[in-house]
Amino acid sequence: MEALLAANPYFSAGFGLIGVTAGLALLRKGVQHGITFAERRLLVSLEIPNRDHSYHWFLQWMGEYNARQAAGIAAAASTAAAAAAGGQSAAGAAAGSAPSAKARRGFGASLLRRLVLPKPHQLSVETSFVRHENGSSSTHFSLVPGTGRHYFEYNGAWFKVDRNRDRGMLDVKSGMPWETVTITTLSRDRAILEQILEEARQTALARDVGKMVIYTSYGHEWRQFGAPRRRRPFNSVVLDQNIAEIILHDVREFLSGGKWYHDRGVPYRRGYLLYGPPGSGKTSFIQALAGELEYNICILNLSERGLTDDRLAHLLNNVPMRSIILLEDIDAAFPSRTPKEEQDARTADKQRGYSSTLTFSGLLNALDGVAASEERIIFMTTNHLERLDSALVRPGRVDVRAYIGNATAEQARAMFLRFYDGQEQLADEFVAKLAAADALGRVSPAQLQGHFVVHRRNAARAVERAGVLIGPAVAG
Ligand code: ADP
Repeated sequence: MEALLAANPYFSAGFGLIGVTAGLALLRKGVQHGITFAERRLLVSLEIPNRDHSYHWFLQWMGEYNARQAAGIAAAASTAAAAAAGGQSAAGAAAGSAPSAKARRGFGASLLRRLVLPKPHQLSVETSFVRHENGSSSTHFSLVPGTGRHYFEYNGAWFKVDRNRDRGMLDVKSGMPWETVTITTLSRDRAILEQILEEARQTALARDVGKMVIYTSYGHEWRQFGAPRRRRPFNSVVLDQNIAEIILHDVREFLSGGKWYHDRGVPYRRGYLLYGPPGSGKTSFIQALAGELEYNICILNLSERGLTDDRLAHLLNNVPMRSIILLEDIDAAFPSRTPKEEQDARTADKQRGYSSTLTFSGLLNALDGVAASEERIIFMTTNHLERLDSALVRPGRVDVRAYIGNATAEQARAMFLRFYDGQEQLADEFVAKLAAADALGRVSPAQLQGHFVVHRRNAARAVERAGVLIGPAVAG
């Protein structure tokens, strides 16, 4: 029987085929193992999720690095072209049209880089939008590598970058898709990878030195609003008497007293209320104060649509480190609600089991419930103190309150001198003119600032034209 099978050519050919297939499968497995083994031994991969600071630092760095490289390539290409053209004209038609060896080499390298640099469709844009104090706005676009695979060369080492977006997974806090960047390089170049990450970090931090970040709320989290801004000098906001210094001293005292609060189990927070007419410098002062303390600001508008009791409580409990919370125009948060409407809203929320609006009691709970181990500094501003419920401004919620009013004689004089350095006599004349027109305490510092900006090159004209300022301001 065996002999019969062996003699059968179909059978032995089939047997042979099985052998070859098995051999090939084994070989493929072997090669796969070999590659995995080599990868493990030779390559190193680093995964950075988008929740990590390094994620944005690295993408920004790579975007800028690629732009620099691309600019270098463009310059090299034009030099090569110029060299080629020069070589041609010098050598004449007899020498043929071959470009010089150097130009060819440069072109070869640039071609290689051009092949691996991100193509236009592989870039993505990160837009930062800044609204300036004067109402204008500016936008900055940074081009960073988009999702997909990229390669780049740095200091003689090659890096593979995979930016992946997991559409099925959402970050619950921000509602953004989950993303990761994986950087792969040869094990021996691991030090260069660390160098890149450090450089990316340094570049990002250098951008923010002396700057302040403004955060606004986005869903349940705080998001950076625009690019970091230059800190406003503390003495650029001129307040009456020494209110500015008193508040600064109070905040500093509070910040240095953490142990006192913790030892006594007292919530480590302090509330400030600045009230007074618009344009008197309430918001500007808080910004200058934050700058002086090297703090950032989290601005929250309580009349914002979609702000609920739960969201507010969550936001106040999850503030970025070293930030002052600013609740602006708090009187506007509950504009037209009568106590009955407030009660109805609360009852409806109770029935639903969750809050759909911000209620006054929700605000009080959020202010009281701030139970963080870190300090909480809450500033509130209003143009109408009389509209505030006494429950909101009681100690524990508002510990310090200060009236920030229209310009007094001293303020007007100090502001004049900030704009026209050393013009003491003109400053006195200016104040005398305001006093004569009974405008002191009726013109806001914002109006004075506007006037000085118009006449910024001519102090005498600013005094001369003081009447223009007084007229509409007093009438208004
Ligand atoms: P408020 O918050 O009281 O309405 P802002 O802080 O928004 O006032 O001030 C509006 C503008 O007026 C800002 O550009 C600011 O520079 C200027 N300004 C207001 N008050 C002062 C002040 N006391 N000193 C210097 N500048 C001021």
